Amino acid sequence: MAELPEIVKLAGQMKDTLRGKTIQSITLLQEKCANIPSDEFQRRVTGARIKDIWNKGKWIITSLHNDENILLSLGMGADILYFDNEKNQSDKYQVKLLFSDGSGYTARFWWFGKFLLVSDDELASEPNTKDIAIDPFDERFTFDYFSSLLKGRKTQIKAFLMNQKNVSGIGNMYMHDILFNARLHPKMKISDMNEDDIKRLYNSIKDILNLSREKGTFAYESDFFGQKGGYTTDYFLVGYKENQPCPACGETIVSIKTGSTASYICPACQKIQNKMQ
Ligand SMILES: [Zn+2]
Repeated sequence: MAELPEIVKLAGQMKDTLRGKTIQSITLLQEKCANIPSDEFQRRVTGARIKDIWNKGKWIITSLHNDENILLSLGMGADILYFDNEKNQSDKYQVKLLFSDGSGYTARFWWFGKFLLVSDDELASEPNTKDIAIDPFDERFTFDYFSSLLKGRKTQIKAFLMNQKNVSGIGNMYMHDILFNARLHPKMKISDMNEDDIKRLYNSIKDILNLSREKGTFAYESDFFGQKGGYTTDYFLVGYKENQPCPACGETIVSIKTGSTASYICPACQKIQNKMQ
């Protein structure tokens, strides 16, 4: 499943490749991906030129010169694939965007993908994206900012980080190693964390996500050109490594239930209580 490093890479490739192109047509084979009927989508984007493409958390936003915006969510996973010519397009998709120069891209959603159209006027109040917080690659994501987010909070740290209204872009996949690297238990209450804990967590979020980005992002996700990244499961520390030894202390890694998700932890390195307090 694509998280921040994969989304940032994809959005960057889409921007570099598509900016300035003019939309010739959209094919919407599965209307439930969209927020408006296919014919209305067609009418509102045909002839429009791509102005800019960026990410907001795990959403990719394409702004058009006619004051419309396409909002793309990969949901539980998706292949967003560029083609230079329709002859080379992927044969499986729910949405296809074709440009006037014959190039285009297809979107194949595995589950819960979204392809929405909203006007500039509606963008700030769009329910899916309006409350998404800034992501850890954003230059405003400083230690002071992160620390202020945690102030006065009593929730468990993993649940807090998973909530896209607090910090955007992190999902379950990178979470295991982020928390392990910071030596924090996923169920640790934020109110039990001290300054050192917060500092380690902040650095860990940056380190894990940056490492993935440096290695070309997760190896099981395709980019805009169908290429896989170099961040293989070999880089995982405890994530998905149940019954294997902890890389720091040798204790057996276990899987525990945390709300609706599983968490992989080292029970020796990640204690629920901070003994230093
Ligand atoms: Zn350990």
